[in-house]
Amino acid sequence: MSNSLFSLPDPVKIPVIGKTAAYPVGRIFCVGRNYAAHAAEMGNEVDREAPFYFTKSTANAVLSGAKVAYPAGTENYHHEMELALAIGKPVFRANSSQAWNAVYAYGCALDMTRRDLQIRERNKQRPWDLGKDVENGAVFAPLTLAEDWSPDADKHIRLRVNAEIRQDATLEELIWKIDEIICHLSGFYHLRPGDLILTGTPAGVGPVVAGDVLNGEIDGLAPIELTLTDAE
Ligand code: MN
Repeated sequence: MSNSLFSLPDPVKIPVIGKTAAYPVGRIFCVGRNYAAHAAEMGNEVDREAPFYFTKSTANAVLSGAKVAYPAGTENYHHEMELALAIGKPVFRANSSQAWNAVYAYGCALDMTRRDLQIRERNKQRPWDLGKDVENGAVFAPLTLAEDWSPDADKHIRLRVNAEIRQDATLEELIWKIDEIICHLSGFYHLRPGDLILTGTPAGVGPVVAGDVLNGEIDGLAPIELTLTDAE
């Protein structure tokens, strides 16, 4: 086997509460339009036919507490607060019990979005990559083991920007539930440890600017924080 010409950065590893070892970030799958009120604020109808997805690059993951520059190429950078789930077992074409069994842990995540580019590309029927796969644009808080937490319907998901509430919903509003997402997505991918799934954002998305501090929480999980610094 030949040596590599150069080395790549190691994948980001997300701390897991109660564990000394961390969870390395493999693939990042994101569910689109999974809260009806957010779909409406984006001018879309909810499609109950099937969930849809986009992905973010592993290389674009950062941990909660990061201070990252306002990204290039946008004038409308948006926050999306989301529940992330971390796969802990290989699963393919899962049924509901296999899907639940494959969840290793849960955590808070931010799906940061160049909204101007996402909408422009959407309207031209082009892929969303420039809008969604943003450097330092997939943010992860420490994970809580699935045995210690469950995504109960009454749990709140919130995001504050500079202490002002921007997003506040409950997990009851999730259109596609955790097991439904895994059942469906595992029909297309051999899901495996390292795979993270962001389950969509509730209503209230909006712009952030350099200097803003974002604080997200989901009841019972470790909170998430992101600070935006001046554009490079
Ligand atoms: Mn999202």
